[in-house]
Amino acid sequence: ALADRPHVAFALSVLGRPGSRDLIPTPAAVIDLDAFDRNVAKMAARAAEAGLALRPHAKSHKCAALARRQIDAGAVGVCAAKLGEAEALAAAGIGQILVTSPIAGAVNAARAARLAAELPDFRIVIDHPDAAAELGGAAAGPIQVLIDIDVGMGRTGCHDPAQAADVARAVLAQPNLRLLGVQGYGGSWQHMPGANGRAAAVAEGMKALTAAIAAIRDAGGAVDVVTGGGTGTFAADAAQGVLNEVQPGSYAFMDREYRDALGSDPDGAFEQSVTIVSTVISTNHPRWVTLDAGLKAFSTEGPAPAPLTEKFADCAYRFFGDEHGMLARPQGQSAVRGERISLAPGHIDPTLDRYDILHLASGDALVDILRVEARGASQ
Ligand code: PLP
Ligand code: MN
Repeated sequence: ALADRPHVAFALSVLGRPGSRDLIPTPAAVIDLDAFDRNVAKMAARAAEAGLALRPHAKSHKCAALARRQIDAGAVGVCAAKLGEAEALAAAGIGQILVTSPIAGAVNAARAARLAAELPDFRIVIDHPDAAAELGGAAAGPIQVLIDIDVGMGRTGCHDPAQAADVARAVLAQPNLRLLGVQGYGGSWQHMPGANGRAAAVAEGMKALTAAIAAIRDAGGAVDVVTGGGTGTFAADAAQGVLNEVQPGSYAFMDREYRDALGSDPDGAFEQSVTIVSTVISTNHPRWVTLDAGLKAFSTEGPAPAPLTEKFADCAYRFFGDEHGMLARPQGQSAVRGERISLAPGHIDPTLDRYDILHLASGDALVDILRVEARGASQ
């Protein structure tokens, strides 16, 4: 159970106490629940206003309780990146899940078939005719599928309309597969700086998606769901009107990478609801102090973590090995051993993946501790 580890047991023992947020052993992932809820409500309102279904990507948090909050606030369900994530979220009670990555092999087809049998609304993408045969062969009942379309990134998805039509025919040949529609996700567009540049990339990609949809329909396939999009492209996706479901994930938390790329665009108008809280553990060097959060506390690609604690806001953070960080001393002020410093992660998804528990805070109080059920479930 959660309380098996002394640092978690300690945090649980001070739950709800005024000031308990500042007692959590560090480094710790701390979510400001009020800011998270505001982000979640804001995206739900944007989607409702644009007439888009919202299916947040749970890869960002991998946590059933947070997925539940997003669904309770109006989302139609969540996305999972992998079958393993879907299995963990399903075991924790989430019933509406789209797996956004294609799978391969009989074992994985059997896992997908099992999720389809057990969940009220399970969906999975495919991008090859053989995948239709594998899934259809494993199915004991209906499995809902979406055809993944490559809208410009070249990572997964059908590369041209003819491939999409081939997959559609293969799906239609399987009595147990139900074709719901398509997915077209442009991962390389999300962090393009400037709303105009993102809008141009989305417009180009939506041409490919529209052509694929036409080819699937010509092959006799139904396309009712058109899903895709992320935090960075919401405004462009809504303006283009090709998608009818969006899958943003990072908006619930935000990170430096998105902050840098989106600036003051409406797509970036979300709060930094998660921080990694760290402690100054050594102050002996004249030029910097040492924090207890290093390579294991943050993802390391992309921008460096940014201190948010006001006194250190202008102080550069650098990785200082596996367990430690180097933080420049604040101008004209002393840095004190034991001081706590909140940092915004560079990239949220791989950072949160380093934590198996999430601390929820409201004001200055720790109010809950959540297990990250799907952590490590990348299979
Ligand atoms: N959809 C898919 C298929 C993704 O891979 C991702 C993230 O990489 C998202 C949606 C969510 O994107 P973001 O976290 O940038 O909002
Ligand atoms: Mn990401």
